[in-house]
Amino acid sequence: MAAILSIQNISKSYGPIMALKGVSFDVPEGSVFGILGPNGSGKTTLLGTILDVLVAKGGSYSWFGGMQHDAARRQIGSLLETPNFYHYLSAFDNLEITAAIRGRGKDDRDRVLQQVGLYERRKSKFQTYSLGMKQRLAIGAALLGNPKVLVLDEPTNGLDPAGIAEIRDLIRKLNSEGITIIIASHLLDEVEKVCTHVAILKRGDLLLNGPVNEVLLSEDQLEVRAADMDALQQALQTMNGIKKIKLVDNTLQLACDPNITPAQVNEFCISKGIVLSHLLLRKKSLESKFMELTTSPQPSPKEREMGSAAQV
Ligand code: ATP
Repeated sequence: MAAILSIQNISKSYGPIMALKGVSFDVPEGSVFGILGPNGSGKTTLLGTILDVLVAKGGSYSWFGGMQHDAARRQIGSLLETPNFYHYLSAFDNLEITAAIRGRGKDDRDRVLQQVGLYERRKSKFQTYSLGMKQRLAIGAALLGNPKVLVLDEPTNGLDPAGIAEIRDLIRKLNSEGITIIIASHLLDEVEKVCTHVAILKRGDLLLNGPVNEVLLSEDQLEVRAADMDALQQALQTMNGIKKIKLVDNTLQLACDPNITPAQVNEFCISKGIVLSHLLLRKKSLESKFMELTTSPQPSPKEREMGSAAQV
C-alpha cells in the first residue's frame, strides 16, 4: 500500500516539555491507523501538527506523496474537538452552518447524512439525538466535501458501549468505502477491533508501529506441557523457529517465529517421542502489549541507539 501520509522525524516542544521527539512513520492508503498512547504521550500534538494547526519544531510530513499543503487539506476531514452544534436546530441545518464556516460541502449534506446513517433523522432537533448519533453527526461534519482521509481524535470519548459500537461500525463502513482513517485513542481494545495499523507513543517517543496483525502475531505465545518436562524442554531447544523458552508453573511458554504453528510444535514433539498433555496458543492482546510497553521503564529509541539504559 502506498503511504497517504509520511511523517519524518517530527519534533515539537512546549517550552521545556518535549511533546514529540523525532517521530517517524507512514500511514498506508486505505488503512485504519490507530495512534495510541497514554495521556500526555503526544497524540493530539501529532494530529495538530499533521493538520497544520500546530507548527513542528523539526522534521517534516507529506500528504498524498508530496501534495501542496492547501490542496492536501481539502482532501482531509478532521474531528479534533466536538463541533458546537445548535441544540434547537436539526442535523441538516447544523450541517449547513458547519459547511458555511468551513467553506465546503453545503450541497453535500444529504450524502453525508446517509453516510453516517442519520438521513432518516435529518430533520430531528440535535437535542433529541443519542450521544452516539451526536458523534456520528460530528463525523458527518468532517465528511463534508468528500475527503479521502478522516482524522479523528478520541472519537469514542464519553460514549457508552452502544455508542462506541455505533462509531466502530461507522469507521469500518467508511473505510470499506475507501476512506483512510487516522484515529488517536487510548481505548486499546477499540483500536484492536477496528484498526489495521497502529503506532504507539509514550512521552513523545514512538515505541512501535506496524500492521496490527504483525504486531500481535509476533507476540503470540505457545504453552506446552508433557509428562516429562525436562525431556520436553531439551527437545524444544533443538527446534528451529523457537526464540525463547520459559518455564512458568510447570508449563513451558514458547516465543516462536510468526510462521511456527501449534501443529508444527506438536508434530515435532511427537517425532521426538514426546506426547503433549497441554498445547495452547495465547494471543497477546494489544492491551497487554501496550501495558508492557508503556508502563515498564523503556529506553527511548534515541537512548537505545546510544546504548544508554536511562529510564523515561
Ligand atoms: P491526552 O490523551 O491526555 O490528550 P495526548 O497523548 O494527546 O494526551 P498531548 O495533548 O499531545 O498528548 O500532550 C503531549 C504533552 O505536551 C503533554 O505533556 C502535555 O502536557 C503537553 N502539552 C500539550 N499541549 C500543551 C500546551 N498548549 N502547552 C503546554 N504543554 C502542552
